[in-house]
Amino acid sequence: MEKSNLKSWIPVDKNSDFPIQNLPFGIFSPPKEVIEKHDKEKDRLPRVGVAIGDWVLDLLELKKTGVFNALKFDTNVFAKSSLNDFIALGKKTTSAVRARISKLLEERNPELRDDEKTRKKVLHKMSDVQMLLPVEIGDYTDFYSSEQHAINVGSMFRDPANALLPNWKHLPVGYHGRASSIVVSGTDFHRPKGQMLQAAGSSGSGNSPSVIFGHTKQLDFELEVAFIVGKETKLGDSVSTKNAEEYIFGLVLFNDWSARDIQSWEYVPLGPFLAKNFCSSISPWVVTLDALEPFRIAGAKQEPKVLPYLEFEGEKNYDINLDVLLNDSVISKSNFKYLYWNMCQQLAHHTVNGCNIRIGDMMASGTISGPEPTSFGSMLELTWRGTKPIKLFDGTERKFINDNDSLTIRGYGEKDGIRIGFGEVKGKVLPAK
Ligand code: MN
Repeated sequence: MEKSNLKSWIPVDKNSDFPIQNLPFGIFSPPKEVIEKHDKEKDRLPRVGVAIGDWVLDLLELKKTGVFNALKFDTNVFAKSSLNDFIALGKKTTSAVRARISKLLEERNPELRDDEKTRKKVLHKMSDVQMLLPVEIGDYTDFYSSEQHAINVGSMFRDPANALLPNWKHLPVGYHGRASSIVVSGTDFHRPKGQMLQAAGSSGSGNSPSVIFGHTKQLDFELEVAFIVGKETKLGDSVSTKNAEEYIFGLVLFNDWSARDIQSWEYVPLGPFLAKNFCSSISPWVVTLDALEPFRIAGAKQEPKVLPYLEFEGEKNYDINLDVLLNDSVISKSNFKYLYWNMCQQLAHHTVNGCNIRIGDMMASGTISGPEPTSFGSMLELTWRGTKPIKLFDGTERKFINDNDSLTIRGYGEKDGIRIGFGEVKGKVLPAK
């Protein structure tokens, strides 16, 4: 675990998400000046970077200095457009790479600090680089693990007295999502279209519902955190809650954009489909479990007792503040700790039947809603299905998300004066095509 008194020779603001204790990994395109200086195709390629303060450390350039030689791994993994090959080296190696970078950036280490020529090559201003999708995502699974969210949705759509379905406290409910439409922060998308029921008041003929086609009028966000699988299993094998952390490389912020009117019509009986798969947005920096170690916290007591394969020992939740902004207005303040089912249980459940997992698979928490109405993780809940519009700074009101609105999620843990953050995931809604 990184000491809180550790400091870098790179100045890092105390409100930065990326102190030397964090060092998350991402994929980026080099700045324009760098690209223009190089004629060779390979010098323009996306590569692996590490965030430190307002800077990005270019591992493709850095490896040329030989700093990783002692670790004896194929450094071509840094010349890739995804972290998958790097992650595939295994946690022992990736943790050692992170430790080596920490040592290199530590304030008393002159290696890079006093080598101006190399420093100019390996450090880019974060504002100058383009962040790309950090992993090639094979499969994406979305859970439904926040009790308050499940209660809110169950109360709205079914029965407040029986908000949770009978299975909810026995297994981490989830569904298989779609990986192709997961995009990195900053990628705008068009309001989706689809089938839905005509708004209440305008009835169909006889008993048949009035079905229409059009753009969604109930576009929503879902505040989530996703983990990235860091180790594969073979078909037929299962991961125990005890070993689950070996299979988790790191975490990103996740916005599971949703179209509620399409969802409520299509979801019976197989669950979400086109209401969810048009776009999901993630933050570009993958924060490792190592970096999140200080923020471990116990989750809610699980009652009734879970089946043995879902039992676990130790603190498996994480105290990470999650802020949601619609345009410039903070509309929710939640926390990753409000998950009933933790990541280890999700992974154990996902593989208990022998389903194999692969490096780069993404598993999202499900909408994270805290106990207070100000900590709900979707417009559906914040406005209670549009019945209580929320007011933004500019005086306008929202029931759901309008065209040209931007939704931003930020996440960070804070302890002993150290802030470990995720940066942000931001996406803008363009009018329907
Ligand atoms: Mn979701």
